Amino acid sequence: KEELIRRSEKLSVVGQLAAGVAHEIRNPLTSLMGFTQLLKSKNEDNHKFFDIMLSELHRINSIVNEFMVLSKPQNVNFRMTSVTSILKSVISLINTQAIMSNVRITTGFEPDLPLLWCDENQLKQLFINLLKNSLEAMPDGGTVRITAEHGLPDKLIIKVIDQGIGIPQQFMTRIGEPFFTTKDYGTGLGLMTCWRIVEAHCGQLNIKSKVNAGTTVEVSLPLTSNAGS
Ligand code: ADP
Ligand code: MG
Repeated sequence: KEELIRRSEKLSVVGQLAAGVAHEIRNPLTSLMGFTQLLKSKNEDNHKFFDIMLSELHRINSIVNEFMVLSKPQNVNFRMTSVTSILKSVISLINTQAIMSNVRITTGFEPDLPLLWCDENQLKQLFINLLKNSLEAMPDGGTVRITAEHGLPDKLIIKVIDQGIGIPQQFMTRIGEPFFTTKDYGTGLGLMTCWRIVEAHCGQLNIKSKVNAGTTVEVSLPLTSNAGS
């Protein structure tokens, strides 16, 4: 509980700062990417260097994009929505990437789940971030299982269960901190964004993990909330 509160304080400060900066960086960045691409196509030589430039620009771009989500959500749009259908569309979005990583996605959705008062785009972002982390944790492939159930009396519980490398104990308190990543090309912003989205839905996010066995992220979202109003 205390862990969560400490995190949310950190989020609001960083989030507000980020909002403005991210916005300003976007346009010049798009222009840089376009012209770098153009230069590459006009030059026979030096493709290696242009590729490095492009991949670094893409990296900046993904950091900026994640910051955009952190900023006060621009189009907050809460509706009664089926979480099962959100999960299905997220799975079809990420399926190509999963197949390429040799990962099979299985589901266990309790039938006739009640609709949830939520922002569909934010929840999509949440589950995409979680699934991406699971794929990235399974370099040799495996299975990711996604379940959704009615937690009595009044919440939905969604679990993303992977068979990945797991999270070492000493990192458990640091994940979700801005820029904390163990990946060469990570941004360290994905889970922080997840926490923020779950918070905006008055829910909770818990992570259980075992090194070399896998990680389970449990998102629990209240069916009766005034979130977004
Ligand atoms: P990024 O994915 O860019 O590194 P995240 O905030 O999404 O940033 O994740 C932060 C760190 O938490 C990751 O670098 C990784 O060490 C750890 N992590 C998150 N999800 C998982 C998972 N499913 N399995 C193993 N490690 C994970
Ligand atoms: Mg991530």
